[in-house]
Amino acid sequence: MEEIRARRLEKRSKAAASSRARKAASPRFEFQTRSEDDLLDDGFRWRKYGQKAVKNSTHPRSYYRCAHIACNVKKQVQRLSEDTSIVVTTYEGIHNHPSEKIMETLSPLLRQIQLLSRFSPDK
Ligand SMILES: [Zn+2]
Repeated sequence: MEEIRARRLEKRSKAAASSRARKAASPRFEFQTRSEDDLLDDGFRWRKYGQKAVKNSTHPRSYYRCAHIACNVKKQVQRLSEDTSIVVTTYEGIHNHPSEKIMETLSPLLRQIQLLSRFSPDK
């Protein structure tokens, strides 16, 4: 539910800014989540490649890249300066592979379906 709302918000703010900046090719999505952990478990594996100090904030901004080969999705993680209990995660790009979490959930299910079809009576 939260995610859908964030997506809509992003779309609107992008339309408003498009006349000024028109170079970002990959879609960006921003999520704000109240969390103790900076790195949210989003089902993908990430590799940290940078960190930068944020003005007026004791929390740095961290940069991650998807750990999957040949995937260029990046994300930035930082705390909201007005409310540091909120983590702001910005995704840039779209994964060209399914998330590991989805595969983890699906594999036993697919195995079960295969098993069922093998014993199906109308064969
Ligand atoms: Zn990826």
